[in-house]
Amino acid sequence: MEKGLYIGGEWRPAEGGRTFAVTNPADGSVVGHAADGGAADAQAAVDAAAAAFPAWSDLTGRERGAYLTKVWNLMKAKRDDLARIMSLEMGKPFGEAKGEIAYAMEFVAWYAEEAKRVYGETIPGTFANQRVLVLKRPVGVVAAITPWNFPCAMVTRKVAPALAAGCTVVLKPAEQTPLTAAALFEIFHEAGIPAGVVNLVTTSNPVAVGDVFMQDRRVRKVGFTGSTEVGKLLARASAAQLKRISLELGGHAPFIIFPDADIAKAAKDAALAKFQNGGQACVCVNRIYVHESVAEEFTAAFVARVQKLKVGPGLAEGTMVGPLVEQAALEKVEAHVADAVAQGAAVLCGGRRLEEGELGQGFFYAPTVLGGVTPAMRIHQEETFGPVAPILTFTSEDEVLARANDTHYGLAAYLYTRDVGRIFRLSEKLEYGLIGVNEPFPGVAQAPFGGMKESGMGREGGHYGMDEFLEIKTVALQI
Ligand code: NAP
Repeated sequence: MEKGLYIGGEWRPAEGGRTFAVTNPADGSVVGHAADGGAADAQAAVDAAAAAFPAWSDLTGRERGAYLTKVWNLMKAKRDDLARIMSLEMGKPFGEAKGEIAYAMEFVAWYAEEAKRVYGETIPGTFANQRVLVLKRPVGVVAAITPWNFPCAMVTRKVAPALAAGCTVVLKPAEQTPLTAAALFEIFHEAGIPAGVVNLVTTSNPVAVGDVFMQDRRVRKVGFTGSTEVGKLLARASAAQLKRISLELGGHAPFIIFPDADIAKAAKDAALAKFQNGGQACVCVNRIYVHESVAEEFTAAFVARVQKLKVGPGLAEGTMVGPLVEQAALEKVEAHVADAVAQGAAVLCGGRRLEEGELGQGFFYAPTVLGGVTPAMRIHQEETFGPVAPILTFTSEDEVLARANDTHYGLAAYLYTRDVGRIFRLSEKLEYGLIGVNEPFPGVAQAPFGGMKESGMGREGGHYGMDEFLEIKTVALQI
């Protein structure tokens, strides 16, 4: 598989013909090669997006929505192919990869409809002969930068609302997952999206490409999903031109279980929310707080579930947890577990790299549960981004609320209880942008998704996600 850059409606090699290899984290094999774009390529992509903007933004919302509907139909027809590429280049189990394509399609479907609903407003004037209107217009050229862990959904969550709003886009996907992005751009091409409206620059040099986005004044908006560290760099860089920026960053999700919860369901859902994508999701559970009176019952049920998770290559039959994405990710998980154990945590299951047989070729780590975790441990403070679930106990609502909020992150939190009053109290006081109440997957395309504190700014999804790509203008007139 060899993929080029997609600029101005055409596939082309990177300047100088440079490419980089894409490897399968399950066995180190080379899956394909992607064009290694540089600053000149990024500049050409921005030129193409700027040239395409006037005509695209002049289409009606209905017309732009129709293109997105074509994209949705093609994604549906090619769902298995897209999922297979994703499994190969980043290790996601095939069934889960198909689930991600379905999730990615939800954004396309939602914004295909929402394109027709960019409503303005009329506001009563101050004088009898004055009228005041509020108009919404597309912001302009958008640069989108996406991570490897959801290589399809993070793209459509940005590109679909941007196109629906009337913006044109340049995408820089993660270095580990350029092939999923390229497959999606083949679909954009087949759907007949006009030349220059969507452009793809794959690269092994994110700084060179990112700098072009930040320095070119025609790029009016940068949408980023990735680590808090890089998000802060981009926020600083965006200040020079006061570019609009939205940041979907890291998380450190608490999962809180009260004694009145359905404990069996809490154990099942905690395993789902923790081990999705092998623990490599921004909304993955990082701290399980269980009330001391049900800690034993919950822990036994949870460990039993975790022990049943089958680890293997993404495309192997029955795989539920794939490999970590790269060596550095594996080393971070090992370091977090070693630090916790050195400080007194107990390994209740897992706790080691898996190297038996074919697994020895990849970055596999056993699904792990740690008991006796304390706030001093690294795992309690940093995003592990791997298949390790730390369990802590608590005694009161006030105590667990304070502990859950004691972090710089604020993306997702999970609450398991059947007490309606408690659901309202804690949903209001937990400092998180996304709260699952007896719900392991709170992120849906029609609702806003995003973080508080250092988990980001701005929202993606729903009509809030569309606003990120629109300017609001006031028109005051005398009649
Ligand atoms: P990352 O290292 O920050 O990379 C994200 C993207 O930024 C990649 O495309 C990367 O390119 C690019 N990048 C890196 N340095 C850059 C720079 N100086 N200028 C411009 N672009 C740059 O994050 P990741 O490891 O791919 O993703 C994992 C992180 O994403 C986790 O923290 C996770 O929680 C977060 N995440 C958040 C959400 C959310 O919705 N809040 C969703 C998914 C993931 P390269 O690949 O070439 O380095």
